[in-house]
Amino acid sequence: MSTISPDRSTSEIKSVLHEERIFPPPEDFARSAHIRSMEEYERLYAESLNSPETFWARMAEKLHWFTRWHTVLEWNLPHARWFVGGTLNASYNCVDRHLNSWRRNKAAIIWEGEPGEVRTLTYQQLYREVCRFANVLKRMGISRGDRVAIYMPMVPELPIAMLACARIGATHSVVFGGFSAEALRDRINDARCKLVVTADGGWRRGSEVRLKAAVDEALQQTPSVERCIVVRRTGSPVRMEPGRDFWWHELVETVDDHCPPEELDSEHPLYILYTSGTTGKPKGILHTTGGYLLQTALTTEWVFDLRDEDIYWCTADIGWVTGHSYVVYGPLANGATVLMYEGAPNYPEPDRFWELIERHRVTIFYTAPTAIRSFIRWGEQWPLKHDLSSLRLLGSVGEPINPEAWMWYREVIGKGRCPIVDTWWQTETGAIMISPLPGATPTKPGSATRPLPGVEADIRTKDGRSVGPNEGGYLVITRPWPSMMRTIWGDDERYRKQYWSEIEGVYFTGDGARRDEDGYYWVMGRVDDVINVSGHRLGTAEVESALVSHEAVAEAAVVGRPDEIKGSAIVAFVTLEAGRTPSEELREELKRHVVKEIGALARPDEIRFTDALPKTRSGKIMRRLLRELAASGVVRGDTTTLEDFSVLEKLRMEEE
Ligand code: ATP
Ligand code: MG
Repeated sequence: MSTISPDRSTSEIKSVLHEERIFPPPEDFARSAHIRSMEEYERLYAESLNSPETFWARMAEKLHWFTRWHTVLEWNLPHARWFVGGTLNASYNCVDRHLNSWRRNKAAIIWEGEPGEVRTLTYQQLYREVCRFANVLKRMGISRGDRVAIYMPMVPELPIAMLACARIGATHSVVFGGFSAEALRDRINDARCKLVVTADGGWRRGSEVRLKAAVDEALQQTPSVERCIVVRRTGSPVRMEPGRDFWWHELVETVDDHCPPEELDSEHPLYILYTSGTTGKPKGILHTTGGYLLQTALTTEWVFDLRDEDIYWCTADIGWVTGHSYVVYGPLANGATVLMYEGAPNYPEPDRFWELIERHRVTIFYTAPTAIRSFIRWGEQWPLKHDLSSLRLLGSVGEPINPEAWMWYREVIGKGRCPIVDTWWQTETGAIMISPLPGATPTKPGSATRPLPGVEADIRTKDGRSVGPNEGGYLVITRPWPSMMRTIWGDDERYRKQYWSEIEGVYFTGDGARRDEDGYYWVMGRVDDVINVSGHRLGTAEVESALVSHEAVAEAAVVGRPDEIKGSAIVAFVTLEAGRTPSEELREELKRHVVKEIGALARPDEIRFTDALPKTRSGKIMRRLLRELAASGVVRGDTTTLEDFSVLEKLRMEEE
């Protein structure tokens, strides 16, 4: 059978979504925010592109440098060196710097475990813990440049371990605590880590995730690992191998409370982090110190309009880049108070998040569309039970947010008061690239709006031509930025090929997008997921948003199935709102609904109702697996980051 293969060399991506709603920034934000108007944004933006070196040099004053850099940027496409000649320390910037002001006694981390215990660490206390663990690492033979794997639940020892690594110049590789022993083993081996930091276990939805047991299994095939340090979290029995395994709490008793920070080169490797694996096998993204820290710190201040009184909560697990940049490095570099929660959003009840917000008086809340769609499905009675009046700003990250989910977030959680920042970025970009500024940018549901100062984005065709307003194409970044990835760990060739060769001379994001007449960016989905229907290339996000705008639909994933006539047939996997039941009638109604919303071209050929969609452990829909399933009924691709295998099993059975 010959089919028209989805080639990306010729046509652009066709945009079919229409969204007219627009929300100006609330007045109180516009009065007092860090950036207060579009004029101010435009001015800063223009300066950042016209005189980038002056701009970034001024911004870099935000950090504490031991030695000032002599050159802002050395750019040899695709390799950048930022703040060349400068030395600094990320842990010093995130901790020590706050000790000579009143912030010394400010809460750095307010932590709540799933069972309900609360621990608060002031900056002074955080300093002591970071120093002690840094001394432990040194005693364990870890020094500058060594890689340390961190496989932990969301407990304070996780950021402490990261900052301790940063303090002595060790490069951390955090592996999400929900991954299997095999996934951990592969990541340890890829980076040749010398030490693993873990815990006996962690709590998730009332049960224990047994981390140490997974580590024991992984360490049977990791020749580089010499030692393992274990935090006692759940207290359940674990096997401790003599000479290899040590308890955290015992080690820290025997070391000094002070550890001088290493003076590290601006380009010193801070960490390696593997991507989510939504589109393929995860890649080890390398970030370095100066540029990364600067841009995460700066964007935290701008995008979240951070102030000293805030209680800031980013719900991401630290195992993802969002947790690295916006739970740890960005907020702590700003001296913020960070709320950190160990467990599930629906434990013991579906209102745990709202209860946390009410009790801790959270002011800034940053979460993912997948979570928002779950909240919608669970019903608004849960948030309505709680006083959410402390909230002043809401954020979204990880996937395109469907306009209807955006509206729900705004009305039900934000009570129409709180601006929403829909932040587009990637593990590779290190920091937020495209996002509203809450005191300046009028928002449109579903759009990440405009690039931040210092970021030059564009929409291009495969052959590098910029496209006009509302024409879909490839989202690219056209000049280097400080927090950009430096390479793929151990595979510079892949770095060149994947990011810098698809479209000549620019950074290729892998996402499809369009830019509207106001210069606003709308991410239409991943380029790998684009569906080619009768020569028209459709982004998945738009068709999915049309489906989700139907009252019966909770979530949708759309993929193409090879079709002799059309090229691709559109297959939609749909989960329904609580209380709705699948029927032939509803199926037809949904098809009509899509036609009405965006046109006949996008009419699904097939709608499959399902209880759940396959997702990565960071909550993103894995369309590539659905695509395989729709085409052949079997899945061969990499599934190491899949959240729940039973979802695939069920989908397969439903098909038979
Ligand atoms: P892999 O690269 O391994 O397939 P991944 O792309 O899911 O995994 P991440 O770096 O965690 O790994 O995610 C970045 C991607 O998430 C972006 O390229 C984009 O597709 C999507 N994304 C993130 N934020 C947004 C947003 N605000 N709007 C639309 N898409 C977003
Ligand atoms: Mg990606």
